[in-house]
Amino acid sequence: MKRGVKNQIVKLLKERPGWHPTARIIYEHLKGKMPGLAFSSVYRALLALSSEKKIRGFTLDSEDEKRYEIYTKSHPHFKCTECGRVYDIDIDINLAFKELVEVHTGHIVKDVHITYFGICNECLRKKVKKIVKDNDV
Ligand SMILES: [Zn+2]
Ligand SMILES: [Zn+2]
Repeated sequence: MKRGVKNQIVKLLKERPGWHPTARIIYEHLKGKMPGLAFSSVYRALLALSSEKKIRGFTLDSEDEKRYEIYTKSHPHFKCTECGRVYDIDIDINLAFKELVEVHTGHIVKDVHITYFGICNECLRKKVKKIVKDNDV
């Protein structure tokens, strides 16, 4: 049963690259396919998969629930404060920070997580459209 849950989670995340669901959302998706599935099984499977580095779990901010994704390489995220969507930032800037911190402190950085907050390009486009419409430009 547990193996089944793990496989289903990996399959679900693989089908949707760039998706960052919470444990609750993953559970909602699998519930229909796996009758009798308990939330605790999903939660335990997520913890196991994260420690096996098959998926990545991260928190965006203190108010946000933990999210999971299939992209396990360390990468920054962008969270839109308007629509709440979370985007992957596929630019290799983590490494520069990592080396800087290591050189300055002598610590070894094993993981870095950066989240940028702002307005996503889609919300920005909608805002501009609205301004244009409201002002009848
Ligand atoms: Zn947005
Ligand atoms: Zn991501």
